[in-house]
Amino acid sequence: MSDKLAHCLTVAWGAMAPRKALSVTEWADGHRVLTGKQSGERGPWRTRRTPFLEEIQDCFSTNSRVQDVVVMKSSQVGITEATVNVIGYIMDHAPTPMMVLMPTIDARDSWKAQKLNPLLTDTPAIRDLLGGNRSRDAANRQDMIDFPGGVLFLSGGNSPNSYAQRSVRIVIMDDLDRFPPEVGSEGDPVKLAAGRTKAFARPRRMLVSTPTVAGESLIQREWLKSDQRRYHVPCPHCGELQPLEWGGPEAAHGVKWSKVEDNILSAWYVCRACRREISEHQKPALLSGGRWIATHPERHIRGYHLTALLAPVGLGPSWLDLAREWQDAIKSPGTLRTFVNTHLGEPWVEQGDEIEPTGLLARLEDYEEMPRPLIKTAGADVQKDRIECTIIGWQSGEEAWVMDHIIVPGDTAQPETWARFLEELSHYAPDALAVDSGYNTTMVYEFVSKLRYAYAVKGVPGPGRPLVEDERARRQRLRRQRKKGITVHMVGVDQAKALLFSRLKIIKPGAGYVHFPNDPSFDDEYFAQLTAEKLVTKIRGTRPYAEWVQSRPRNEALDCFVYAHAALRLHGGVPLTASAGKISLDEWSRG
Ligand SMILES: [Zn+2]
Repeated sequence: MSDKLAHCLTVAWGAMAPRKALSVTEWADGHRVLTGKQSGERGPWRTRRTPFLEEIQDCFSTNSRVQDVVVMKSSQVGITEATVNVIGYIMDHAPTPMMVLMPTIDARDSWKAQKLNPLLTDTPAIRDLLGGNRSRDAANRQDMIDFPGGVLFLSGGNSPNSYAQRSVRIVIMDDLDRFPPEVGSEGDPVKLAAGRTKAFARPRRMLVSTPTVAGESLIQREWLKSDQRRYHVPCPHCGELQPLEWGGPEAAHGVKWSKVEDNILSAWYVCRACRREISEHQKPALLSGGRWIATHPERHIRGYHLTALLAPVGLGPSWLDLAREWQDAIKSPGTLRTFVNTHLGEPWVEQGDEIEPTGLLARLEDYEEMPRPLIKTAGADVQKDRIECTIIGWQSGEEAWVMDHIIVPGDTAQPETWARFLEELSHYAPDALAVDSGYNTTMVYEFVSKLRYAYAVKGVPGPGRPLVEDERARRQRLRRQRKKGITVHMVGVDQAKALLFSRLKIIKPGAGYVHFPNDPSFDDEYFAQLTAEKLVTKIRGTRPYAEWVQSRPRNEALDCFVYAHAALRLHGGVPLTASAGKISLDEWSRG
């Protein structure tokens, strides 16, 4: 074989050999250089300093099958650096179109100047890739960086234009809880951004944020859909793998401290299994021996929770720093909220959400002329001796006109009671009806199976449960259930109540507002029942969570409203047709 032929074969072989599957971590450890502008650290990037970032950034390695990553985090845990590693890796090793969205144009500009530009100008692999001087040009360009084989768009999440027309394979949304919940008239920013990746077969999306208030927080919403991974570290004494959790004087485990008067002198961690002390200088061993463990391993969306308790010595707050901050923070709910959000990376649960029923009585209206409802729904609650049912007319934006609350007395084990209920209901001709199947289940099934527009529902508590399941989850579950001959729809009652209470707080008619008729059915008792529950904060382990607690014996009015709302959602929501003029209450109830 001639030298020339051998050379050709070598070249051909080189072209044919599978490209080594370099991971993001390998790339970052091999190429990334810190110059002190980002974090105060200088020299080559070393993932082993923050080992919990390895799995997160490697979700973006070419051989990874992960598509969606949600990171709910405290501040100062290095996740921004991990996203910069991902960007460098994509530019240098796996080029493709990508987009980074920050909450606003200003936020994008400062992120770019502080976090991204050092990558473009100081990491040699990227500087060479952009061709020396061009890396300076790229550092000057705010909205777009071209690189061989790809492009990086940099956008502000508050502008609808940022989501338009760009097709990318990778989307990173940082600081998600500062995004507007609705972008102009276009809708949910997470959905809009996901829409940009539709043209690609294997898109990848990453959502990162410190959480805000529970129930409103976008990152919490996404985290609750994820497999919810927490970084478990081994106790140096007994080996128990455990997530690091906040402690305090009352907790059995977690961060503890000693103090003289108000001066906290030292802090340590107490193992949840053996209760022995772990000191801060043992942190490197804790971190390097740790691993991510999912709470819901069956889910495909990756969720990572990062707390400042994981911050490596010298790179973030120490346990002692945190204990001192906690002591200051507990003086007011406002500062405690900041501590919980920014240091523990947990959503803040508002306490004691309650509505004054007398305020609602004061706003009864004479429905002389109301807009003709676009859709009418009813929600029924079944007791042993009666059926109660609320009928609601809906306008766009789910503006609700509560029409009537009927009570049909009678033994609900007897068909006659149901026949009378149907007769009363027929005056209103609802488009959809949801009936609670928790009591006298067989009768409920039989009743709804005869009506095309009726749904049997079952209220399920839990903060992560949506009001009604999305179409796909619902169809899957129903397929299983139908085999057994029953069809029950799950209603996330916690979310439904939270939604109703936030709507009852709206004082101006329009989207979300709830109207009540000046009618004898709507008396003190009705409103006392409607507001019969309140949200209280409880502690499970060391984590706060919210629970609805009944403050009165009866709450049928509340349940009926929740089911009527569920019926609306199950039926596909308020139709997008124009309002069809005015109608009087009498006309309306005649259907
Ligand atoms: Zn232990």
